[in-house]
Amino acid sequence: MKDAYSFHTTQEDLDKYYERAYRAYERIYARAGVPEVIAVKSDSGMMGGKVSHEFMLLTEIGEDTIVFCPECGFRANMEACEAITENKADAELLPLTEVFTGEAKTIEEVGKLLDMSAEKSCKAVVYQRNSDDSYVLVFCRGDREVNETKLTNYIKSEIHPAIDVENANLAAGNIGPVGLETKATVLFDRSLVGATNLVCGANKAEYHLTGFNPERDLPEGTQFIDLTKAVEGGVCPVCGKHTLQVRRGIEVGNIFQLGRRYTEAMGMTYDAENGERKNPIMGCYGIGVGRLIASVCEARHDDYGPIWPITIAPWQVEICALRIDDPTVREAAEKLYAELENAGAEVLFDDRAVSAGVMFSDADLLGAPIRVVISPKALGRGCFELAARDKSFREDIPTEGAKETVLNKIRELTEAINAKVPERI
Ligand SMILES: [Zn+2]
Repeated sequence: MKDAYSFHTTQEDLDKYYERAYRAYERIYARAGVPEVIAVKSDSGMMGGKVSHEFMLLTEIGEDTIVFCPECGFRANMEACEAITENKADAELLPLTEVFTGEAKTIEEVGKLLDMSAEKSCKAVVYQRNSDDSYVLVFCRGDREVNETKLTNYIKSEIHPAIDVENANLAAGNIGPVGLETKATVLFDRSLVGATNLVCGANKAEYHLTGFNPERDLPEGTQFIDLTKAVEGGVCPVCGKHTLQVRRGIEVGNIFQLGRRYTEAMGMTYDAENGERKNPIMGCYGIGVGRLIASVCEARHDDYGPIWPITIAPWQVEICALRIDDPTVREAAEKLYAELENAGAEVLFDDRAVSAGVMFSDADLLGAPIRVVISPKALGRGCFELAARDKSFREDIPTEGAKETVLNKIRELTEAINAKVPERI
């Protein structure tokens, strides 16, 4: 892990530096050959502070979920993304009615039985606080999922899904918000605002209620809080269009505005111009270097191994000397190796006496972007064979001037990557 910290006397100064760090990170990822890494607003969680960003490589195998809007460029980590739910109110509000639902417990089962879609239901999700196992009940629209990070932040306590609901005197599968008697903390999600004629649990076994109208049936002053996850096709919190997309990604770095939390805790101070002793405002900037390498490999590989971007490749060039026992091969290979090394290129020289098949599959696994194959056959034509690990070129080059040809290729590949690096600020 690479970590950096900055200390500031004013928020404006931190804002300015933070912006530069943000851009520096974009430049780092572009130069590492993964310009597709995007910055998303994240949940600062246990780190405290208000503004923070995660840098994400979008990939199916990612462990994080990212929400973004192609219309306006809004991006956020799912954990921090505001969820907006639009409800179309029915013209007529139906009365609360108890209905027998028997063994039907889940949203799907009850929906099937009563011929209602999940969005016309109100479900209860039960959690327990890690600290003392006390219960927390969240009511939300049936087709929404609780965002546990938002819930944790709201109640300021770590939670886990409830293990034993019966213990809390709750009718599992039939929990409802009307006439509920419980010591649990009860919370209502914003997805219920404007919803009408929902089905919900009746707080007794085998029964549900229909005609639940949250704003009519819940006590006056009930608060509706944002506690659920944003959804694909959902409403963008910035531009208001139904354009949200949800993708998976790997976090390859993060930057935080930490505020004064740590400088206060550690008693770090400076003397201001007026002689006052103050705690500086802090920023922190991390990159998981090992994780970044793994992520680049995930983004740039084929069935045979990694295809390292030339800017971070362990070697820019691999020389494969086939039939090293042939003096003309050895001489030509050693000469080119020395010339390239002297010119500052990073070169791996494979001079093992192994078959071409073994040598090439090892070269694929090592992933050097440029390969020079030196063999008796090509030498007979006065040539080396020059090939790209990503298969973008494969050509015979004259041994005369081969050093320059290879150096030009290195420059070309490097420039192609640098062309995608954003300007410094
Ligand atoms: Zn938008």
